[in-house]
This record gives sequence, structure tokens and C-alpha cells, in this order.
Amino acid sequence: MIRQAKGKTPRRPPPKKPSNNQKDPVGVYCRVRPLGADDEECCIEVISNTTIQLHAPDGLKANRNGEYKETQYSFKKVFGIKTSQRELFEDVAKPLVEDLIHCKNGLLFTYGVTGSGKTHTMTGSPGQGGLLPRSLDMIFNSIGPYQAKRYVFKPDDKNGMEVQNQVDALLDRQKRDSQTTVPKTPTTRRIDPEFADMISPEEACKADGVDEDSSYSVFVSYIEIYNNYIYDLLEETPFDPIKPKPPQSKILREDQNHNMYVAGCTEVEVKSTEEAFEVFWRGQKKRRIANTQLNRESSRSHSVFIVKLAQAPLDADGDNVLQDKNQVNVSQLCLVDLAGSERTSRTRAEGSRLREAGNINQSLMTLRTCIEVLRENQMCGTNKMVPYRDSKVTHLFKNYFDGEGKVRMVVCVNPKADDYEETLLVMRFAEMTQEVEVARPVDRPICGFAAGRRQRNQAFKEELTRRLEERGGPVDGEFPTVLNQLLQSFPPLPPCEISGPNDDVTLPRLIEALEKRHKIRQMMIEEYNKTANMLKSVLQEQDSNILSKENFIQEQRGKLGEKDKMIQNQKNEIDRLEKKSKMLEYKIDILQKTTNIYEEDKRSLQQELESREQRLQRELSEKRRMESRMQGMVTDAKLKWEKECERRVNAKQLEMQNKLWVKDEKLKQLKAIVTEGKTENRQPQRPSREKDKVPPKRSASPSPVPTGPPVRPLHRRSHSAGGERWVDHKPTSNVDLDTVLQPNIPNAIKVNAPNEKALSKCDKYVLTHQEVASDGEIQTKLIKGEVFKTRGGGQSVQFTDIETLKQENPVAASRKRRSSETDPDGEPMDGDWTDVETRCSVAVEMRAGSNLGPGYQHHGYPKRRKP
Ligand code: ADP
Ligand code: MG
Repeated sequence: MIRQAKGKTPRRPPPKKPSNNQKDPVGVYCRVRPLGADDEECCIEVISNTTIQLHAPDGLKANRNGEYKETQYSFKKVFGIKTSQRELFEDVAKPLVEDLIHCKNGLLFTYGVTGSGKTHTMTGSPGQGGLLPRSLDMIFNSIGPYQAKRYVFKPDDKNGMEVQNQVDALLDRQKRDSQTTVPKTPTTRRIDPEFADMISPEEACKADGVDEDSSYSVFVSYIEIYNNYIYDLLEETPFDPIKPKPPQSKILREDQNHNMYVAGCTEVEVKSTEEAFEVFWRGQKKRRIANTQLNRESSRSHSVFIVKLAQAPLDADGDNVLQDKNQVNVSQLCLVDLAGSERTSRTRAEGSRLREAGNINQSLMTLRTCIEVLRENQMCGTNKMVPYRDSKVTHLFKNYFDGEGKVRMVVCVNPKADDYEETLLVMRFAEMTQEVEVARPVDRPICGFAAGRRQRNQAFKEELTRRLEERGGPVDGEFPTVLNQLLQSFPPLPPCEISGPNDDVTLPRLIEALEKRHKIRQMMIEEYNKTANMLKSVLQEQDSNILSKENFIQEQRGKLGEKDKMIQNQKNEIDRLEKKSKMLEYKIDILQKTTNIYEEDKRSLQQELESREQRLQRELSEKRRMESRMQGMVTDAKLKWEKECERRVNAKQLEMQNKLWVKDEKLKQLKAIVTEGKTENRQPQRPSREKDKVPPKRSASPSPVPTGPPVRPLHRRSHSAGGERWVDHKPTSNVDLDTVLQPNIPNAIKVNAPNEKALSKCDKYVLTHQEVASDGEIQTKLIKGEVFKTRGGGQSVQFTDIETLKQENPVAASRKRRSSETDPDGEPMDGDWTDVETRCSVAVEMRAGSNLGPGYQHHGYPKRRKP
């Protein structure tokens, strides 16, 4: 038969395992179950789809003095109480099933306190199938049409898979059929109503990119780890109702690739979701029975359901699975429902139960330690030994953490207050687990045959069937068309009926024809061999071609990996730069703002500067104007003072002339007295010393009188019966004023200069004195006084009053300013007094109440001329 020879291909070395440096962190998810009906206080709040927040329950808060605060924990994703089983599956398990179909391993486990929903998540309940039944369903939906016939793949009991030839597989199938009463087609089978609702075909999920040119087979095994012993839940043991045998534990072994496996563990080949789940259910039942019989708590055991997917390429014809163990790929998905993570103290265990609980916790503790060491090794670059072997669970998981594959963990939490402290521990473990990285599985190399083999084979088979039907059924074997053609190419046989014993013709003729045929056959065989050899060499050539191409692809893949790494690095660099650029942009923004502020400041300062400059300018011009005005005023004042000085000099000159005249006069009088005295001795008319007066100098303090103390008049002259008599003293230099204030005293003796004779006859004295005031006006003063007789027999005048009259000087008519009174402190007064005193060459004494002020006592002494 032509088909038989097709399976053989030249042996090829197994493809090199591509190196892989890419790692992914363990995917940790969190599922929060709804609060139970009896529970009141909720300690967990989902605050985002990646974060939950734990609140310490009220009682605990009071006990611990508020030490427990709210704590937040982040996960790859958080599933709240409303999350459906389907949503959870889509996010958590679907990628793992896809990986499984693409020859990659996966580990999925649930972790949490008892009652937190681990089993609900993994297995589910009727109507709410968990991750396990959904994963199985997705696997069969994806590979359904490409499944190999039963027993084509055969587990080698060491993680590997062999490919049986068609005959052996057929024999095994027949054996199975004869042993079991299971109907042949699963579709017609009745599904166990116990779990029928757990697998829901209407929510079918399917993986993409299933290789049609491969054949698949699914194997499941189900084990339980209790008290650090491994039990095979699928092992068929004859049940002995009288003396039930305790289940035998299994041991872990390592294959030549250092992958772990449970030695002698049952692996059941399953062809449909229903069948697979039925097997699982069987194991579940067995577990339940064992737990009841042995008085164990199922929450303290770990259950591990392993799905193995074997796949191998179809041969070149696309008809059968390639008979090459090296071409078989086995991937596995491990679904683990871990024991409850509570501490021993919480399990009300005693005696042997306590030991069990301790062990359970021991295995979880080991898991924790392994994760810790792994994390430390990865983060700190250390190379500490990870104690996988310390417990069965971790030992079984070793390959996932050490080798490659995806690891995912669903952390289940119950928000009730009782669980709070345990939940905190669970959270810490979850946090740590997220920091562990696992090597990313690489894509398996493709087998090297042309794609589309399965389809071509199918098309060929269909065509064959059609032609057979046309010819009316097969003749003479399976492939009549080819045989008939061959037969027709031979020369026809002569009639071979022997006529009698002496027939010498027929046999030789037959021999000849047969020989001829033999020759042709020989030729054909030669031809065939030649063609076959040629074909063989062509095939070999092509094979080596393919091999080199495969190597090339491998190489390219390596390069691609490097490029990927480079891209990743560059992406990181870009990220970094982007962050930096954002930072810089922010800084620029700030600087811009600062600049704006400064500019604003500058502008306002400039404005202020300008305004100040303008003000300065204004002030400067003002100053200049003032300066010029002052200049003008100074020149004016200078001019004025010059004129004033001139005037004063003139006045002084006039005064001096007057004085000179007075002195002359006095001298004359003195002469006269002297001559008189010689004749009339009785009445000496000698001028007394008191009559001599020194012109006083005005100063702040009265200057001491140089000659003797003033002589107080001893008695007043008695008034004559006819009233007062006045001496009217009018110096000749006086200007005639024609004003009202003309002293017109009747019965007065008018003198130009005072003389003893006139004074002795009168008791009153008035001096009309003129002078030019500082303002250029003529000031007339009437200086009044009383005449007393001195002890020495002389006359003295005591001034009692001054009347002032101001009149515009007809000489200095140009002067405009007038003042009615002369300032007593004014400078010109000096001159006036001098003038008055000079003119009144008699003693002057102040009387109380005089407005001249105290201390001004002048005694008229006739001035002596200097010799
Ligand atoms: P575990 O396996 O962690 O001990 P289970 O899965 O057995 O916990 O859950 C305990 C109980 O809580 C079960 O009755 C289950 O139906 C219920 N339960 C758990 N998780 C959920 C959930 N997300 N939604 C509804 N019920 C849940
Ligand atoms: Mg459970």
C-alpha cells in the first residue's frame, strides 16, 4: 500500500532550544467574594480595578489602640463581588489556554483563607462553572476537529509522549471498546446531571492560530496533596467493601530534562469537555469519599488538576501523525486549588489533626519561603538555593518557577471581619509574589513540512471517493485505477488452454509471453527504482534544504530576539527621555513665567525711572529758574543795600555835622558861662558834670555809666501860675514838614540848641528830631521831658515820652515803602538814639512807665571835644 511507506522521513536532530532572556512577573489577581449572610462588618473595599483597601475591623482597632490603619494592596487586576465567572476566565485563564495550545506551559493557582472562594473560583458550582471547566471547554473548542485518534499518542510516564503506529493504536482502541461499556460517540452520551450545568457550551471560547497541520490529544491527571503525601485521584483500584485499602501515595520524580512528574500517575486521554470534566468529577468524588472515610478536611489539602496537550505534525501526506517522538510537543496546564492559608491557631485542631494542620501550613510556608528566596535572587542577583524540595507542592511547581511558562495566582479574599488578620498575611504574600519573575515561554519551532497538508489530504480523499463511486466501487484492492493502468501496459497473455498432453505450442508460447512480461516487469522495476532513487535524492535534497532553512529561521529568530531586546531598551530610553523632556518643559514653563514676572517688573521700574527722571528734569529746571530769580533778587538786594549804605553814610555825615555843631555850641556856652562866672559868683552857672553825657551804646546789657551815678532830682520845679512852660528845641537842620503833627506849644521858648538859660525858665522840654528811617522816610520824633534842678544848681531833663511821626522824605521821594512805626529793635534806632541824645545835650533819665524800657538811663553830659 502506498500510504504505508509515507511515514518515513530522514531523522533530524531535535531543533535547538532558543535562548530566552525575557521574563514576566507572576500575574497576581485578586477576587473579592461577597460578604456572607451572617457577616456584618466588611473590611475590604475595592477602590479601583487594580487596588483594594483593607480596614481593620472595629474590635481590632479598639484593641490595638488604632495601630491598624487602612492599607492598600495592588494587583494586576482586582475582581469585585459582581465579577462573573466568565469575566474572570477571560482575563485570567484564557491566555493560559491559548499558551497551552501553542505549546507553552502554564500554572494557575488559587490562594486564600478557607471559605474565601478558592474552590468557587477554580471549580465553580452548577450554573457557575469555574476556571477549570471553562479551560477544558476552550481547549476542546479549539482543537476539536484536529484531534488524533485515541491511543495514537501514548504517555511515556515521564512527562513525554510517544506516537504509536496505526495498528497498535487500533488494537488498543479495540481493547478499550471491549472492556468498557461506554458508547462510542460522546455526543450521544448522557452527561452526568451532577455537573451538566457547570460546562456551558453557549459561552464557547476558542483559541486563535491553532495549527491545522498538527494532531492533538488531551490527557488529564488529578492529584491531591494531603499532609505532604501525593495521592492519585484517578487511579482505578478495585474497591473492596470489606477491607478498604488505604490509598497509596505517589512519589515525585525528575525526568532527563529536570522536569518533575508524579511517578506512576494515571493520565487519562480525553476527547471532549464532557469526558474531561467527568474524569475530574470522578476524582473529586473519590477525594470526597476518602476525606469522609479518613476523617480529613478537604480544605487542608491541595488539589492539582493537570491538563497535558500532546501535539505532533501530520506527515507529508497530511494523513497520519508523524511517527517521530522528537516532533511531539507536550505542554501542560496545571490548575491548583491550594489548601486554606489560615494559621494553625485558627484551625481548631488537636493531636494528629494539629500535625496535619502544621504540615499544611508547612507546605504553604515553604511556598512562601520559595517565593521569598526567588524574589531575593532575582532582585539582588544572589544565587541562594530555593527550597522547592521542602514540600511536595513547591517541588511540583519547581519547573514553572525555574523553567519557563506563565504563572498566575488568584488571591481569594472574604471581606468579613473574622478573616481580617489572615487576609493581611495573604495580602503580604500576594505582594511578594508579584515581584517574582518567570521566564517567558518561547514559540516552538515549526515542523518544516509545507502548510495545508491536512486540507490537501482531505481534498485527495474526497476526490478518490468520488472517482470510486463513478467506477462503481473498488475492484481488486484499494487502488484499482493505478493497478488497472499498470496491467494494461503489459502485453496480453496468449490463450493458455492446453489442448492435450502433446500440446507443445501453448506452454512455450505462454512461457515466452510470461518471460516477455517478466522482462517488462524487470524494466519497470528498474525504472521504478531509478525514479524512486531520484525521488529519494530530490527529497533528501529538499530535506537538507528545509533543515538549513530551519536553522536560518532559528538564527533569524535569535536575531529577532536581540532586536526585540534592543527595541525594548530603546523604548525604555525613549520613556526616560520623554519623562526628562516633560520635566524640562515644565521647568521651561516655570522659567518663562518667572521671566514674564521679571519683565513686568522691569517695565514698571522703567516707567518709574522715566517718571522720576521727568520729575528730576522738572525740579532741575525749577531750580534753575529759582537760581536766576535768586540771582535777580541778590542783585536787587545788593543794589538796595548799596543805596542804603550810601544813604546811611549821608545820614551819618549829617549827624556828625550836627554833633560837631552841638559841640561847638556847647563849647560857646561853656565859654560864656566861664566868663559869666567870673562876674556873678553867687549864681554859678557852671554846667554840672551831670550835664555831660556820653552817647550810650545800645547793647543787650546796659553798659556801665562811665561817670558817676545818676543824680535823682531832689525836687520838682514848681509850676508857675500861668501853667507849664516849654523849651521848644528845634534843630536848624530840621526839614519843614507842613504836617498836622506840628508841635505848636504856646508860651514856649523856641531854641535851636538847648541852653541853660532857657531851661532854667521852663519846666518842660520838647525836642523835635528828624531822621531818615531805614525805609527812606523822614521820621520826626517829639521827645518830651521834664526839667529838674540839680543839686549842683544845674538843669537836668528827664525824658518822659516820645511821639513819632513818619513823613515821606521829599528828598528820597523815590522810596515807596512806608511804615507807620519804627521797630524799636530795628538797626536804624541806634542812629536815632545817638541823634536824640546828641541833640539833647542834657541829662536824660527814664521815668517809671516809660515805654523806652528799663535800664536805659542816659545822663546828658556835654561831650568834650578831643584836644
Ligand atoms: P474555599 O474553597 O476558599 O474554602 P469556597 O469556594 O468553598 O471557599 O467558598 C465558600 C462559599 O462561598 C461557597 O458556598 C461559595 O459558593 C461561596 N462563594 C465563594 N466565592 C463566591 C463568589 N465570588 N460569589 C458567590 N459566592 C461565593
Ligand atoms: Mg475549597
